[in-house]
Amino acid sequence: MASRRALLIRAAALAGAALAPAGWTRAFAQARLADYPFGLGVASGDPLPDGVVLWTRLATDPKAMDGGMTPAPVEVAWEIAEDEQLSRGVRRGRALAAAEAGHSVHVEVAGLKPDRDYWYRFTAGGHATPVARTRTAPEPQADVRRLRIAYGSCQKWEAGYYPALAHLAADHPDLVLFLGDYIYEKAASKGDVARLHPPEAADDLASYRHRYAWYKADADLQAAHAAAPWMVMWDDHEVSNDYGDDQDRSNPPPAQFLKRRAAAYQAYWENMPLRRTALPAGPDMHLYRALDWGRLARLAVIDDRQYRAHRACDADPDSKLIPAACPERFEPGRTMLGRPQEDWLAQELRGSTARWNLLGQQTLMGPLDTPDGQVSNDGWDGYVATRRRILETWRDHKVANPVVLGGDVHAFFAGDMSVEPGGPPVASEFVGGSISSLGMDAATMAAVLAANPRLAMGDGETRGYGLVDLTPDACAVTFRAVASALEPVSPIRDLARFVVENGQAGLKRA
Ligand code: FE
Ligand code: CA
Repeated sequence: MASRRALLIRAAALAGAALAPAGWTRAFAQARLADYPFGLGVASGDPLPDGVVLWTRLATDPKAMDGGMTPAPVEVAWEIAEDEQLSRGVRRGRALAAAEAGHSVHVEVAGLKPDRDYWYRFTAGGHATPVARTRTAPEPQADVRRLRIAYGSCQKWEAGYYPALAHLAADHPDLVLFLGDYIYEKAASKGDVARLHPPEAADDLASYRHRYAWYKADADLQAAHAAAPWMVMWDDHEVSNDYGDDQDRSNPPPAQFLKRRAAAYQAYWENMPLRRTALPAGPDMHLYRALDWGRLARLAVIDDRQYRAHRACDADPDSKLIPAACPERFEPGRTMLGRPQEDWLAQELRGSTARWNLLGQQTLMGPLDTPDGQVSNDGWDGYVATRRRILETWRDHKVANPVVLGGDVHAFFAGDMSVEPGGPPVASEFVGGSISSLGMDAATMAAVLAANPRLAMGDGETRGYGLVDLTPDACAVTFRAVASALEPVSPIRDLARFVVENGQAGLKRA
């Protein structure tokens, strides 16, 4: 193919000396890999008006502990173009996939045009990835008429397959928001499972890398990454169940837990399309950030795990349920986000001129009582003051159209939030279901809904994701449900549809 050959020649010419670290040799660059090295797929993320992150991580054998890779670094070439055939190439370059970074590659492409689709691929050792789509954000002052965000969470490998992600890809979102539990760190589940991964829990860098590789070998997950740029946030299971700050459910010594957290954060970085600003330093990783989509939307994505105060009223460390009367959970000094992040979020909200102000966070943000008067100390109910400060910021600074998107609870939920119980709605929230993780049965959900009249809808038995269609006039949220995540292929349907209209707080059924 002449055009491909011409491209490759152009690639060689464009890959200037400045891009190649000292020590690279021509022989090394031309090394051929015997096996296909892109077993974990590709991804893009964190779009800006002039660029996006391109990601891949090499593994010739994703299910092997070492991914089939030797400690030797591998040179990877990347290219990005204005068309799917890659005939109108605009940028290209080379990067080094080093064992120290799990053979991952993060390319921060700049110099692109705003608000348009691009296509990219990686090549290495004579192999090429499929061509994947991404897109850039609009310019800050652009008068954008529409934005489609697909959002999901909780894709426990053992609990099911990912037909939801296949449909998510087909829904052609501009952006995918993933709100955590990308992997589950635990040892093998007991009882019925849809498919098996190795039985050991992930708890150090090698085992977290292995768990990601196992997940990322899934073709539907790869298709969802290849369909659009992602903006990712973790929840607890990327590290350890119900962890916060330097403790988890099993209460190991904090120094020991922070070592585990550092390994988990490093593996998270290696496996996600993130910018260098998120590069971890030991157990610390700055992941909270905001994305603007012209004047239409500002999306703030917050980290409620890394900086949170310890669990309130933690009499039984094995249970997250505590009496609603627990006084500690109301203490104003307690924070779920840490003060610097709370201050940052308040700035982002007060300074926003966007029509829609979306908050991407891990779980159900509004209050939730169990039928027997308990609350969870693992969610916002354990950090009432932080929630109240955000609600007051939305209300008192007249932040335009706040809408909350969440995950974690393995259920679809829709409801309004108010500063005082039963008060006027300030924001609406939509928890977008789980991709595969199992949730509560219908009888339990019916009791939960009866105990929480603020919720307009709840469904814990159905797997799927949320679709947010924004225009200047309305935010339409569709809960998309697969018939079964126990099947690799399963049809999709609309489970429920809501709309929030510009300037009118409170959701409506649509
Ligand atoms: Fe989960
Ligand atoms: Ca979770």
